[in-house]
Amino acid sequence: MRGQGETMSCVFCQIVRGELPAHTVYEDSETIAFLDIHPMTDGHTLVIPKVHAERLADLSPELAGKLFQTVQKVAGRITRALHAPSLNIGINDGRAAGQAVPHLHVHIVPRFPGDGGGSIHSILYKSQKRPLEEVHRLIADTL
Ligand code: 5GP
Ligand code: ZN
Repeated sequence: MRGQGETMSCVFCQIVRGELPAHTVYEDSETIAFLDIHPMTDGHTLVIPKVHAERLADLSPELAGKLFQTVQKVAGRITRALHAPSLNIGINDGRAAGQAVPHLHVHIVPRFPGDGGGSIHSILYKSQKRPLEEVHRLIADTL
């Protein structure tokens, strides 16, 4: 969570407050979903928590659950409305991952046969540097 100044200037907080227009497709007390202003495909939608939080780790487990319940609902509606056979669902979580807007958002990108796009595997190719066993130990030791 961030201070009030950051919330005032955040474009997604401005959408939540109704100060910026958006094509809202779903809203409840804690989450809102609206069309991306530069859609990658028809129906490209962003799902956000209404409270300003920059990263997934900044959400309470309860709110993270609510956010993904909304993702599931909206994904179903997009699938039905646009007859989208597939979806990519993802978060650019942090600047190094490509996050441009510092208010957590889940992208729902409808996918269509022959649209020319790749999968999540097309983000990076073979950039692993450490052996799998070492990485496993490092992560498993924190659990
Ligand atoms: P990021 O790279 O941070 O994951 O993606 C941010 C997304 O927000 C981009 O796809 C961009 O098109 C979208 N976006 C940025 N500003 C606005 C806005 O004012 N309204 C809407 N609807 N989408 C926005
Ligand atoms: Zn915000």
